[in-house]
Amino acid sequence: MIVPHSVHYKERQQQLHLWYEQQARDLPWRRDLSPYAVWISEVMLQQTQVKTVVPKFNAWLKRFPDLTTLALAKEDDVLKAWEGLGYYRRARFIHASAQLICEKHAAIFPEGFDDILALSGVGRSTAGAISSICFGAKNPVLDGNVKRVLRRWYGEREALDTTLWQWATEEIQAQSKDAGQWNQAMMELGATLCLARSTACARCPVVQHCASAHENQPAIKTKKAAVKNVYWQALLHQDDEKGIWMIQRPEKGIWAKLWCLPMIEMMPTLSEADHVHVLTHRRLHLHLKSMASLPQGQGKWVSDLDDIAIPTGVQRLLKKCSL
Ligand code: SF4
Repeated sequence: MIVPHSVHYKERQQQLHLWYEQQARDLPWRRDLSPYAVWISEVMLQQTQVKTVVPKFNAWLKRFPDLTTLALAKEDDVLKAWEGLGYYRRARFIHASAQLICEKHAAIFPEGFDDILALSGVGRSTAGAISSICFGAKNPVLDGNVKRVLRRWYGEREALDTTLWQWATEEIQAQSKDAGQWNQAMMELGATLCLARSTACARCPVVQHCASAHENQPAIKTKKAAVKNVYWQALLHQDDEKGIWMIQRPEKGIWAKLWCLPMIEMMPTLSEADHVHVLTHRRLHLHLKSMASLPQGQGKWVSDLDDIAIPTGVQRLLKKCSL
């Protein structure tokens, strides 16, 4: 029997907390609840999968163990450490925010929700995660996983963000226990049992309080953005002694500020690209062209590609072409 949600906050809370305490995955950012580590992990997880984030997160903390080290680092080194996570804007935001925290908050991560929200690249949901996990504040998280769980609990598949924020706030305000653990448990439920394409209701700790339990609902559809095909010629200037000529991309646009082969947009072609790289809104068809002429414009010869931050798409192109 499905029990209406509104009168069962307490029971549902207890069951979800207990399940989280017993079943939560052992992830590195759950062992270090310092605001710095939680912030880094939350931003990394915004658009990147857990299995990709884990090794990058561990390496990041070794390379930049604290706010001051990060603030003093060169931007190129920060971008290099972000390699493989994509959406490099996040790395630049983190770097700028570390500098701001050092200047404005004496290198101590701010505790207030508004101060956390003021950091570049931190939205309401991420600020909710940091403030609840690190400081116990009753601020909700509303990422894609939590939205899906709430829609199913309340049996309203089309619920809009305004309603979802209201539900998420009510849920966390009703907490008698650790607000940070509640947010983590909600995210964990959405990431492990209550998935977009399937639900493990038989193993769900809150099955008795979910309006959608055992419904075998088809996936909650999210609108996919149209992907545009873009064709680029990647110009390869190579010198046996000096290495490969690389340029730094402009501050805005695809792969902003990363190091790259010079690229020229070309007409769409049916000839097979050397590498096709898919970004959120673009499918990049990369055609490598070896150049005999000397390179033009600003750039530098690079003999060891490990020394610079190169976007994954270009790394794969160079690898496919045995470079
Ligand atoms: S009972 Fe099923 S649909 Fe409801 S929250 Fe649990 S896994 Fe999701």
